[in-house]
Amino acid sequence: MNHLIASRLSRLLPAIALPVAGLVAVIPAVSALSPGWQTLLIDAMPIATLALALLLSIRFNRSRLSFLLLFLTLAWITQTHLRGQLLPATESLLFAALILNSFVFSLLKDRSLFSIHGLLRIAVLLSQAIAIWCLASFAPALPLTMINREWFSLPEAIAIYVQLPDCILLGALLINLAHMTLSITRNSSLQATFFACQLGLLGIASGYPHALLVPLMISSCALIVALAIVMDSHDMAYRDELTALPSRRALNQLLLSLGRRYSIAMLDIDRFKKFNDIHGHDIGDQVLQMVAAKIARIGGGGKPFRYGGEEFTIVFPGKTPEQAQQQLETLRAEIENYRMVVRRDQRSKQSQSARKSGRLGRAQRGNRNPRQQTLSVTISIGYATRDPVLKRPEAVIKAADQALYRAKKNGRNCLSY
Ligand code: GH3
Ligand code: MG
Ligand code: MG
Repeated sequence: MNHLIASRLSRLLPAIALPVAGLVAVIPAVSALSPGWQTLLIDAMPIATLALALLLSIRFNRSRLSFLLLFLTLAWITQTHLRGQLLPATESLLFAALILNSFVFSLLKDRSLFSIHGLLRIAVLLSQAIAIWCLASFAPALPLTMINREWFSLPEAIAIYVQLPDCILLGALLINLAHMTLSITRNSSLQATFFACQLGLLGIASGYPHALLVPLMISSCALIVALAIVMDSHDMAYRDELTALPSRRALNQLLLSLGRRYSIAMLDIDRFKKFNDIHGHDIGDQVLQMVAAKIARIGGGGKPFRYGGEEFTIVFPGKTPEQAQQQLETLRAEIENYRMVVRRDQRSKQSQSARKSGRLGRAQRGNRNPRQQTLSVTISIGYATRDPVLKRPEAVIKAADQALYRAKKNGRNCLSY
């Protein structure tokens, strides 16, 4: 559980800390520059970062992020080139729409801009723009009366930083709260990116009069988007989608950097083909995820990978076979003793007929609740260590594979060296 919370916070915190750190570190540095350089930076920084992020989002087909960058660009233009030209109420409505849209778009899926979904999204955004323009042109008093109501009074110390109408501030804070909750529960770096940019939009909308605030906020948000695209693509290349463990490509990368002492274990789920045949592929996938989650928590500095199919690899840098053996034996026993509860309606028809014909094992039958069933699996492990004969990592993996074969021959659910 702690592991889970730490992993979720690790995605969220950088997304919030980066703009704050950026502001704290960059404002004094930029303020120290000559006015000419300052103007150049203030004008060029947002354009350069927005363009970079936009190019990346298009290159990697992240249309939701392209839309988010569009919202950031609109916020930037409103607070710079259009500053003082829009009615305050129109400006507030525009920011409310940008914040709300950035939340809604975070919940959607990436779709091509030129698909029916993409065109529909563009149409919805255009109709919002037209609605705001119509309100501003034909009934400018209406948004004013809607917005300019004193709902509550902020403490003086905070009020000087915020020049947003009460209802919009309250709405934006509620959306931010919902978004933060989602960012934590979904454990997604892209969700955290949307959240960070939404905070940035709120900061920009606050209208705090500092020449560097808007360009720095926009640039930080654009950099976060660019960084998220790069990190997410790295994750896709190096992380296995089903189990969230690092993939074989990541293993190959690690093998290049190992020192002179290390041990490697190969793990394989026992009789998994039969398990799939009896319970169905979906339950098989859940078991793979359960086994991977246990493997991910291996102690002793072990680095886990999904090797492929129902096979996993654990590398123990700097560890002797005895040290690795301890951790592996604990893991083997933990998986053997774990009972996975599955609802009956999740199981395949094959499974139900196997149950009737009595083909299932005891662990798979002995549950009193007829709607639920407990399942369990075992794993076999082979491990080997680097020595003067097995000098290359590939040779150590091969030896671990041969040891795994021996573990299978010895009756499975055991370790072999
Ligand atoms: P052994 O004890 O000798 O390892 O027997 P086994 O049945 O586990 O070995 P075998 O290599 O014959 O079968 C591996 C099975 O693993 C076949 C395939 O259906 C299953 N498998 C591989 N990848 C996945 C996956 O991603 N999801 C599911 N559900 N099953 C998978
Ligand atoms: Mg296998
Ligand atoms: Mg197997």
